[in-house]
Amino acid sequence: MATALQENTFTGTQESASAVIRVEDIRHSYGKRTALKGISFDVAVGEIFGLLGPNGSGKTTLFRILSTLMLPTSGRALVSGFDSIKQADEVRRRIGVVFQSKSVDLKLTAAENLWHQGHLYGLRGATLKSRIQEMLERVALADRAKDKVETFSGGMQRRVELAKGLMHRPSVLLLDEPTTGLDPGARRDLWLYLDELRMREKVSIIATTHLMEEAEHCDRLAILNLGDIVGLGTPAELRSEIGGDVVMLEAADPAALAQRIQEQFKIATTALDAKVRLEIKDGLKFVTAVAEAMPGTIQSVSISKPTLDDVFISRTGHRFWTEQEQQEND
Ligand code: ADP
Repeated sequence: MATALQENTFTGTQESASAVIRVEDIRHSYGKRTALKGISFDVAVGEIFGLLGPNGSGKTTLFRILSTLMLPTSGRALVSGFDSIKQADEVRRRIGVVFQSKSVDLKLTAAENLWHQGHLYGLRGATLKSRIQEMLERVALADRAKDKVETFSGGMQRRVELAKGLMHRPSVLLLDEPTTGLDPGARRDLWLYLDELRMREKVSIIATTHLMEEAEHCDRLAILNLGDIVGLGTPAELRSEIGGDVVMLEAADPAALAQRIQEQFKIATTALDAKVRLEIKDGLKFVTAVAEAMPGTIQSVSISKPTLDDVFISRTGHRFWTEQEQQEND
């Protein structure tokens, strides 16, 4: 029988003692292309942990490694102390995986979908029947058990997938872009439901997302860029690192404006969307001072509190989305 590595790996701080997932220096390359450059983080019991990153940042690669579908080039992941490479079966027993692509059978009822899933995990007879009932109740679909899934809304179908992922009572739920294809209302509902799930059942959740607003629902986040973690913490912690305000200035000649600000005010600026962007404690005071020092130069001004997008810009020097991607997402 496999033995948990808990004792020799989960030593040290209190925080690591409650970690149900530990990711240690995972690297992955596809041939010459490096997708992950050494990723490490812990996830606590009952925590919702987000992997936020733009396309190509390595989310899918990491997701596939954590769900034991792929081996990393180096490094390892531990789930409840079990090594995802050496003890993959033990890890599989403890994780529920919900992929982005649909995995429910639309022609079957909600209960039939769960019946097949339970069978895969060796559940039979009365145990299977009561588990199906329990899971449908958990995702608030007990009254629709006998309805074909094709009659369900997108949000309800996603909840059937969650119920499938929970059939074998995993302690960890891995969700790949969980709200893809859902309208804003169904997205909000799903996050409310996930929040309830981790509170009631103490299930730890790792969710990949490319949506900033979704990342705000997570307790903690790893922000990925080109295979690196460029930010790790609660959404509030990450935003507070910027401190103060984010100012965007539009001018006929942004490069000249940026240079004058750097010379006169000794403030670092970034060029973004043909505007001058900077972070400053008191945005209003600064803008007033610039307008006085350089009358007629500035065409428009915006002052805002930092968002996760600003955290990304601050760490990488570029936007999370290209403008075209932003339009596609709006
Ligand atoms: P994300 O899910 O954040 O979009 P991926 O993990 O899919 O990121 O991709 C990370 C990097 O690895 C990208 O540069 C991507 O082109 C590359 N990549 C992903 N899958 C493969 C593959 N099967 N073969 C070669 N390169 C790949």
